[in-house]
Amino acid sequence: MATILYLCLLRTMSDSSDLSNHTGTLFIVPTPIGNLTDITQRALDILSNVAAIGCEDTRHSRILLQHFGITTPTFAIHDHNESAQVNKVIQRLEKGDDIALVSDAGTPLISDPGFVLVRECRTQGYKVSALPGPCALTTALSAAGLPTDQFHFFGFLPLKQQAKIAQLRQLNQHDFTSVFYESPRRVLDTMRLAQNELSEQITVVLAKELTKSFESYISGSCQTVINWLEEDSAHQKGEFVLMFGPAPQVSDDISEPAKQLMQSLLSELPAKKASAIVAQHYQHKKNALYQWALEQKK
Ligand code: SAM
Repeated sequence: MATILYLCLLRTMSDSSDLSNHTGTLFIVPTPIGNLTDITQRALDILSNVAAIGCEDTRHSRILLQHFGITTPTFAIHDHNESAQVNKVIQRLEKGDDIALVSDAGTPLISDPGFVLVRECRTQGYKVSALPGPCALTTALSAAGLPTDQFHFFGFLPLKQQAKIAQLRQLNQHDFTSVFYESPRRVLDTMRLAQNELSEQITVVLAKELTKSFESYISGSCQTVINWLEEDSAHQKGEFVLMFGPAPQVSDDISEPAKQLMQSLLSELPAKKASAIVAQHYQHKKNALYQWALEQKK
């Protein structure tokens, strides 16, 4: 068994060049998002056998590497030095060195550094090979109980309040699941804004501390999630993935109950006001109701 694994690894590492047989491969290696046993055997083998490991933070990754007895040399590559480091990595690949890229946790490039390096390696024809592994996005989504046939990952919400409100408001139009990473410092504020902006029919799922001892999923309305966060200050600590289910879709069709309510309201209110109330109540399009009201007057 060990021999087969070793041969597979050798094959992966030697079949590594788009340029020539002598250039190296850049391996994108996911690392655990909490539970150290979530690292794969292939990730450990590659981290042990490459010439060097590019780390978002070498001190952080050294703890993981030491835990697994890996002594491969490390170097820092992060948002602030990525452009400068790219050439050095490319020179090493050119020499035939295999290089691994890791971030502090999870999959590199997913709300983490590495994009500039991968783009440049691909542009210049070096082989880039990604290992599957831990990622908070897919972990949270796969157990949230929200539709996964279509989803959009937005990374972190904007820091500026107005931009954040605008993005949250957009969720009322999405017919797919929307996923955000969120910081413990902002999660309660974000949920309060979402409570003001979102249709009550959108399901929210907050996933906390995935793969760790206090892993939790809180699911329901914005108010349910706010109540849970406020119930105990410890609930606001840790790492979060915030997910919103699809918004109920409005159609041009006007249901019979909506028409009846429109009739009653039109005797007391202007068409615009009546349309707004009924649109909210029955999830109909305001414009369709307004047009219908005008037609009744003809
Ligand atoms: N590259 C990582 C990945 O693959 O998930 C994400 C890096 S991003 C800088 C860090 C954010 O991911 C955290 O602020 C949190 O929103 C989310 N995250 C990471 N680990 C998590 C965990 N164990 N539970 C919940 N969310 C997590």
